[in-house]
Amino acid sequence: MGPATPPQLIVFSGAGLSAESGLSTFRGASGLWENVPLDVVCNFATWERNFDAVHAFYDARRIAAGGVQPNLAHRTIAGWQKRWPGRVQVLTQNVDPLLERAGCEKVVHLHGDVLSMHCVACNLEWKIETGAYDQSGCPTCGKKKTVKPAVVFFGQAAPAYEILHAIVGGLRPVDTAVVVGTSGTVLPADQLFGYSAAYSVLANLEPGTAMDEASFSARSYGPATQTLPSLTELIQTRMASVTTRTNQ
Ligand SMILES: [Zn+2]
Repeated sequence: MGPATPPQLIVFSGAGLSAESGLSTFRGASGLWENVPLDVVCNFATWERNFDAVHAFYDARRIAAGGVQPNLAHRTIAGWQKRWPGRVQVLTQNVDPLLERAGCEKVVHLHGDVLSMHCVACNLEWKIETGAYDQSGCPTCGKKKTVKPAVVFFGQAAPAYEILHAIVGGLRPVDTAVVVGTSGTVLPADQLFGYSAAYSVLANLEPGTAMDEASFSARSYGPATQTLPSLTELIQTRMASVTTRTNQ
């Protein structure tokens, strides 16, 4: 982003964004998701050994994703993107498709996408949409046991982190970062955004995460369907501010 680039908005979301749509939040602390140990179904070192359990688990997640609708928080983010074309970047730790269903574009899924499959043999990634995976194998190389959900497992590289770090590294005081619905357990949103050059807002259900919440420029606590719409006025002011040409 050069000095003449107008103010940008970054929205960084976690499970709290989708909670009000009925998708259970990822409970990092308990190590359970829908009462299933994450170490069984979300571990790159063991997933091939747990092949059937892994696919049964993500089939259920994919079926659940088929029946849920985006909520007002997702729609608010989509509204910001429409209002400021090309100036709002949406990053999410969520693997659900609710941001896209609300109308968001170019969403960066930092931890993958539950509606896609990934072949670890040939690296192909493809959409299967909602419903159970038919286990027909990789469309390119034909292998079956090398196909996993395109969700980033523990111990697996997350290529989209490069995009995240490039965006964080480019943040300027004129930019705004909204962090919504995350405990900061997997990705430290305080270190990424709270301590960044940007004006940062933390929008969580309640205080008390392990993050340094005081590092954010502002905090807004409550359900995301209430906190995000209430931020629109502030964001409007920030997006309208004049860019300082520091090279003159
Ligand atoms: Zn393949």
